Amino acid sequence: MPRVAADPVGPPDEDAVTAMTQTPLMARALACLFAAGASLAALTLALPHSPRVNEAGLVTVIVLAYLIAALLFWRSQSMSAVIPRGAVAAGSTLITAVAYFSGQTPSPLIFFYLWVFLYVGYFLTRRQAAVQIAFVGLLYAALLAAAPPVGGGGVEWWLVAFGALIVAAVLIATMRARSEQLIARLHDAARTDPLTGLLNRRGFRELLDLEVERARRMGAPVALVTGDLDHFKQVNDRCGHPAGDAALCRAAELLRAGVRQIDGVARIGGEEFALVLPGTDQEGAAAVADRLRCALGEEFRAATVPITISFGIALCPEHGATAGSLLQACDEALYAAKQGGRDRVVWHSPAVARQFLDGARGNDVQEDRFVAVLLELATTVDLRFSGSARHSETVGRYAEMVSVELGLPEERVARVRLAGLLHDLGKVGVPDAILQKPGRLTEEEFSLVKEHPALGAQLLQHPGLSDVRGWVAAHHERPDGRGYPLGVGADAIALEAQIVAVADAYEAMTSDRPYRRAIGRDAAMAELRRGASTQFDPKVVTAFLRVLEREARRIDMLFRAALDDELRSGARSARA
Ligand code: GH3
Ligand code: MG
Ligand code: MG
Repeated sequence: MPRVAADPVGPPDEDAVTAMTQTPLMARALACLFAAGASLAALTLALPHSPRVNEAGLVTVIVLAYLIAALLFWRSQSMSAVIPRGAVAAGSTLITAVAYFSGQTPSPLIFFYLWVFLYVGYFLTRRQAAVQIAFVGLLYAALLAAAPPVGGGGVEWWLVAFGALIVAAVLIATMRARSEQLIARLHDAARTDPLTGLLNRRGFRELLDLEVERARRMGAPVALVTGDLDHFKQVNDRCGHPAGDAALCRAAELLRAGVRQIDGVARIGGEEFALVLPGTDQEGAAAVADRLRCALGEEFRAATVPITISFGIALCPEHGATAGSLLQACDEALYAAKQGGRDRVVWHSPAVARQFLDGARGNDVQEDRFVAVLLELATTVDLRFSGSARHSETVGRYAEMVSVELGLPEERVARVRLAGLLHDLGKVGVPDAILQKPGRLTEEEFSLVKEHPALGAQLLQHPGLSDVRGWVAAHHERPDGRGYPLGVGADAIALEAQIVAVADAYEAMTSDRPYRRAIGRDAAMAELRRGASTQFDPKVVTAFLRVLEREARRIDMLFRAALDDELRSGARSARA
């Protein structure tokens, strides 16, 4: 029987699987046998034959055999698995009838039994084949009783013919089982990495395709995690290739041991691994990846070359609805993890997708990829800094709203939003202890924080991003010249940088930070008004306040409309 992939939900119903995969083939093979048998029997009629032949009986059997062949062929795609088995029994009966009508004892037509034995040996389970073989045994015994061989010896005929046929059936069943084992082994070998025993890239792609399809049908999430050992080349260089191989095997063991049975673990490149985690959300995947990162770091902490691993995470369908797009999203996140200093977990940020979906996408694929990676990095920085991935996204959104309000052309609006998304990139170089410090920063600590605009600009070294780079570098400059890093005056600060500065300040004031609580919308707006001309560009502040007030009015109107609706429906139900 064909191998059926194990289903974690439970063993498949054998009959149902057979019906789906084997039945059409079984029906067509049987149709051919019936047609071939009928044609050979017809030939014996057409050729000169003994007068003892029962022609009418033979013609009836031939017509029946052709009819069954046609029926099996016609309905092969949509029949129950029981029908071919019934047809085999019908075939054995027709063979017995044809041998009887041939008038010869023993009849050469009993050779047709061989087909039955080969067929059941090849296609049926042991139990089903035994039933069919026993039935043929009975039919043949009946035939020998009804038309005993000339000169006697019916029992010997039965024993020899029946025994030879059984051996033929066993032989074909054994060959079939062995070839299936071989195919299964080749199938597994083609999907297994010989060094680690994990799935290889091919097996991984098949699994990922399957899980993405399953997620699409079931509406359940599936998380993809890709990991790459950090600076692994050094392990080979300093300890030799065999030690590198041993480390890869140990890393593979740790990954396999650290996930559930239903999760897929693969080695998709030299020192690259992938985990497919069905039914797992972003937080779940991040927890798994972080646990594995720690376990691996711990395992190799005392090694000659300590090994760490970086992970990228992407979720289906949020970050990619196909295996290809999911892999790309995950690769970008992994690349950002490497850029962010390695030995860390980075998940794909929706800001990347939004940046491209909203049409800010340029024609330069290299630049798009570069920007995607930086956006991932910006999300990671946000997570370290504020514990939420929202800061940069919100600053990008505010910057966009103000730019529209100031009447900037569409393309420039998109660039300002990008600057808003990337403005804090340079904080990647500020230690966690400073970013998350609850109290006031010391002079020295603050001087490190002050480096982040310049560092961000450095990370944005790309010919296509020179505008954004300049704005990011200047987003902490102030019109009164008391900003950093350069302390230049209003005339030297680009409008776009001033927009990002206002958006950044408002977002920071209205959200909780490790060192203080949010001050609330009205207080933050008052603070912007107070800082206009000194800390912030006054026209940007005016435009932003207009946007915020309009937004507040809109929300207020929506709220009132909802309240009115509720009151009206309440009054209606009271009247009723
Ligand atoms: P990064 O942190 O940027 O990933 O640095 P890296 O050195 O890990 O990455 P790079 O891609 O430069 O090098 C990957 C190295 O992995 C190259 C090769 O020496 C090693 N490698 C790849 N496949 C095998 C393997 O099957 N066995 C061994 N021992 N080493 C391998
Ligand atoms: Mg690599
Ligand atoms: Mg590597």
